[in-house]
Amino acid sequence: MNVTQKLQIQLPSPLQLLSAEASTVLFDKQKPVNVLVKRDDLIHPIISGNKWRKLKSILENWHNTPHSRIVSFGGGYSNHLHALGYACYRLNIPLTAMVRGNYENRLTPMLSDLKKWQCDIRWLNKIDYKKRSDEDWLRTQLDDYQDSLTIPEGGSAMSVHTGMKELVSELPEHINYLLCPVGSGGTLAGIVQAMHQLGRNTKVLGIAVLKGQDYLEDLVKGLIQDQTAMTGQPWQILHNYHLGGYAKAPEELKSFCSEFSLKTQIAIEPVYSGKLFFALRDLLQESYFPEGSTVCALHTGGIQGGR
Ligand SMILES: *Cc1c(COP(=O)(O)O)cnc(C)c1O
Repeated sequence: MNVTQKLQIQLPSPLQLLSAEASTVLFDKQKPVNVLVKRDDLIHPIISGNKWRKLKSILENWHNTPHSRIVSFGGGYSNHLHALGYACYRLNIPLTAMVRGNYENRLTPMLSDLKKWQCDIRWLNKIDYKKRSDEDWLRTQLDDYQDSLTIPEGGSAMSVHTGMKELVSELPEHINYLLCPVGSGGTLAGIVQAMHQLGRNTKVLGIAVLKGQDYLEDLVKGLIQDQTAMTGQPWQILHNYHLGGYAKAPEELKSFCSEFSLKTQIAIEPVYSGKLFFALRDLLQESYFPEGSTVCALHTGGIQGGR
């Protein structure tokens, strides 16, 4: 049994056409474009969406590597640590989670799950957390650093490409625009490279969920291996939909999320998917997309983070 089967990952994820009725939450005019939703939120009840795509190659190849432990990083609500924690538990891979902040006496639901899944949790203050990619410092923190595989925050490393290519190959060719949220950049980087390698003309629009106008493009470029993809493939990050910053959720966004979930029966949360669909609504209302185009929103999951 391979890892995908063992974890009961459901692929390909559904591609859903938003019905005319459901789409009234996005635009009130005559339906000028087709809106598709790629439901990566339905891949698995716990390992949601883009975190499976990003971790897939690491988990599948684990037993052929010399490592004996995974070490990774994230905040107290991290979808990445949650997905990784569950997968490691089920696959018997020892995991150390280095968490930003000390939640020992006020565990979040995410951290309670990690404890249940036998994860070794280390609490880091903000200053130490900033040292997370400093190898010399990490060596002083972890006895078995030598034998460990470190995965950066959000799971964004070159290892994302295999899984993201699989995602793009599940999409039809006639999509004109693909929208995805951007946090640590691995999802967008993986999609851009895969679009290029699969010869697609789809323009990729990343919706920044945090204030990253000074560095997000460089972060994404650093994660694209294929230089011709970086320059030859149309992609762009939109920076005006973070709505105050990471995990900031103004009232307007919260009410949009409830209305959207109610009308479409697609659950969204304010950190990632809420901002994605909020941006999509705005772009539709200002007629950003030419009439008749097909626009696909990638629902990356992450509903657990809203607990
Ligand atoms: C982590 C996450 C993202 C951000 O993806 P990056 O690859 O870090 O840019 C988007 N959506 C959800 C639901 C996530 O959990």
